[in-house]
Amino acid sequence: MHQSTDPYVRVRGAREHNLRGVDVDIPRDALTVFTGVSGSGKSSLAFGTLYAEAQRRYFESVAPYARRLIHQIGAPKVDSVTGLPPAVSLEQRRSTPGSRSSVGTVTLLSNSLRMLYSRAGAYPPGAERLDSDAFSPNTAAGACPSCHGIGRIHRTDEQLLVPDPDLSIRQGAIAAWPGAWQGKNLRDILEALGHDVDAPWRELPARDREWILFTEEQPVVTVHPVREAERIQRPYQGTYMSAHRYVMRTFADSKSASLRARAEKFLTDSPCPVCEGRRLRPEALAVTFAGRTIAELAAVPLTELDGVLASAPPGGEAARVLAEDLRARIAPVTELGLGYLSLDRTAPSLSAGELQRLRLATQLKSGLFGVVYVLDEPSAGLHPADTEALLTVLDRLKAAGNTVFVVEHDLDVVRHADWLVDVGPLAGEHGGRVLHSGPPAGLADVAESATARHLFASLESPERPRPVREARGAVRLSGVDRHNLRGVTAEFPLGVFTAVTGVSGSGKSTLVGQALAGEVAGRLAEPGFPVRRLVEVDQKPIGRTPRSNLATYTGLFDVVRRLFTASDEARARGWKAGRFSFNVPGGRCETCQGEGFVSVELLFLPSTYAPCPQCAGARYNAETLQVRYEGLTIAEVLSLTVEAAAVFFAQVPAAARSLRALEDIGLGYLRLGQPATELSGGEAQRIKLATELQRLRRDHTLYLLDEPTTGLHPADVRVLLRQLHGLVEAGHSVVVVEHDMDVVAGADWVIDLGPGGGAEGGRVVASGTPSEVARTPGSRTAGYLARALG
Ligand code: ADP
Ligand code: ADP
Ligand code: ZN
Ligand code: ZN
Repeated sequence: MHQSTDPYVRVRGAREHNLRGVDVDIPRDALTVFTGVSGSGKSSLAFGTLYAEAQRRYFESVAPYARRLIHQIGAPKVDSVTGLPPAVSLEQRRSTPGSRSSVGTVTLLSNSLRMLYSRAGAYPPGAERLDSDAFSPNTAAGACPSCHGIGRIHRTDEQLLVPDPDLSIRQGAIAAWPGAWQGKNLRDILEALGHDVDAPWRELPARDREWILFTEEQPVVTVHPVREAERIQRPYQGTYMSAHRYVMRTFADSKSASLRARAEKFLTDSPCPVCEGRRLRPEALAVTFAGRTIAELAAVPLTELDGVLASAPPGGEAARVLAEDLRARIAPVTELGLGYLSLDRTAPSLSAGELQRLRLATQLKSGLFGVVYVLDEPSAGLHPADTEALLTVLDRLKAAGNTVFVVEHDLDVVRHADWLVDVGPLAGEHGGRVLHSGPPAGLADVAESATARHLFASLESPERPRPVREARGAVRLSGVDRHNLRGVTAEFPLGVFTAVTGVSGSGKSTLVGQALAGEVAGRLAEPGFPVRRLVEVDQKPIGRTPRSNLATYTGLFDVVRRLFTASDEARARGWKAGRFSFNVPGGRCETCQGEGFVSVELLFLPSTYAPCPQCAGARYNAETLQVRYEGLTIAEVLSLTVEAAAVFFAQVPAAARSLRALEDIGLGYLRLGQPATELSGGEAQRIKLATELQRLRRDHTLYLLDEPTTGLHPADVRVLLRQLHGLVEAGHSVVVVEHDMDVVAGADWVIDLGPGGGAEGGRVVASGTPSEVARTPGSRTAGYLARALG
């Protein structure tokens, strides 16, 4: 697509965020890895500058109408970029697919499978051939008419609607009814209809109970209200509505989230009886391929689907071509270690890493060439065995004539790069320079690079050797049946650091995040149970809008607002804390309602945020910004980094404590007002951990963490590990799901799941000390762990 003969992408004067006028030349048609400690500026260069610029040019070329909007979003702060092809981003951060999307829709494999059923399926005698749309639950042509393609329906039943049948209707037997006046009205109507509202519910005739709860009739009667207190009411016409009808209507139509939530309590959700959860019309479900319906094939792991297609009896030429095409599209997905997924698995139940790899696999088959792919830590969630497959796939993208930019921390990926751009040396204002741009070997001479220290000198981990910790009791799980775990027994020792390992899809999250968390949560109150508190520190965003940020999440912002409210200037104006909130009218900028950003909708593209034209991102109105605390406005305080704020608030104990906790965990480079939407999963997790560390308690606490090293440079991993081991030293228990073998090698206990993913996993393959697990035959982790143990 690009005509340039210069084989380099040349960046001049990049100043996005902390970048200090960076000049860098990067070869096209190569795999380039961007490295550096957290906050050094890797993403500002790879995403903020290169990707943003490529995307801006692409929009300008394809969508002239969008030019004004693009202008609003702003161009990256850079003097010039030359030689840059258009970009395809596969970053993890801003990608949230809708709840109706699935593995099949994300990879477009569903389209191919539908085509196969439409053209090459076995139809019942006399049936008309169906269009491929008729095999999609997301179209009117295909959706089961009873559940509208959802596969599940909501129902009520008597036990839910009337939880206590000893009560009379007057006493409130029908719990599902609305409260207050409306409920009383329904009761009066029933009385007017001749029902006994004073007898216990149990004693009413079954036919009446059925009618009262479930009738679809809506009789209108004249109600003569009983005189209540002083008020005299006139007779009126009342319309009856059964409890069932009321609940269903409220659940489906109410604008009030709390009313909908209340209605949901009286509903059970069960598979649709018409399609049995298969979401399709009967005509579509009557068509088979290799003896199976499309719903059946969508529910099996992709590896199995591939096997079915491979061994399908020879049909016509059409069947052969379509089946081959499907298999060719499935191949990169299984190659990236995702063969355990089924097409009908919903997108929201996938991890960010799984989603990014699915998109990557889809791109591989798209046949695009001459573009630049920008990836954000594609190794996240990958066992070392899976990472090897990832490298093969990246090589193929490159071989097809593309430029591949990857922000990565995994040293195996870093070593594999053709070209390395190392940013640093430290975070924020102490970073933002390119320390090395060239083949990885050249980094060895760069003394100030933290990456060089880890890439070349294999540092002895400071956590080892240390005395092996003795467990103090254990939590035992047995008969765990969930997802791919079948009758699993596992023992989690307490008072130690435990790592749970296994290839992607082996069942780690299910075992730790669901089975262990569920068991412990259920037993916390039990006398004699050794664990008193359970803390899950996950990677879910700390908020979904730019309104939540680091300061609001940690409670620091309350302290800051109190300081501003107490200032002489605010007191003289009579301002209360609300004046300094950006969530309520008063002090905030009304153009953006305190968000600092306005949402920009681009047709066909995900909506994106642009700085507010009124306050330029300050969030407050000009009057509010006249008040200063120790010389800074509240907007200026929000733009301080944690590190700078720790100095600024050194004399304010309530603020200093949480700032120190954030610094200690390596987040000193984040700004206080940094919107939650800009934080990576790993940063969100560390913010949660820091918040937790500052309120450290004595009660024996079990901490569960899901791949806490995600997004961390090996130097940052050190810092994090010191904190986690500190928790164990303080008498608590830590369980991490982890792929970083250096972390696993430093654990007291390892539980290895597998051997494979999905149906090929779900068993405890090994458990013991790291060196015991490293010697266990049949464990895919063993070899990698042995290498890390040195
Ligand atoms: P890395 O990718 O190396 O972790 P980033 O490029 O994300 O680092 O961040 C580099 C610096 O820029 C950090 O100090 C960070 O706080 C700052 N920064 C990141 N995003 C923004 C933003 N949207 N606005 C202002 N500063 C930002
Ligand atoms: P890991 O954490 O080791 O990557 P998971 O525990 O996430 O593995 O997944 C184990 C198995 O359970 C996989 O086959 C996966 O597809 C399945 N699974 C996980 N979550 C769900 C879910 N929400 N619905 C259905 N299957 C799931
Ligand atoms: Zn249905
Ligand atoms: Zn504004």
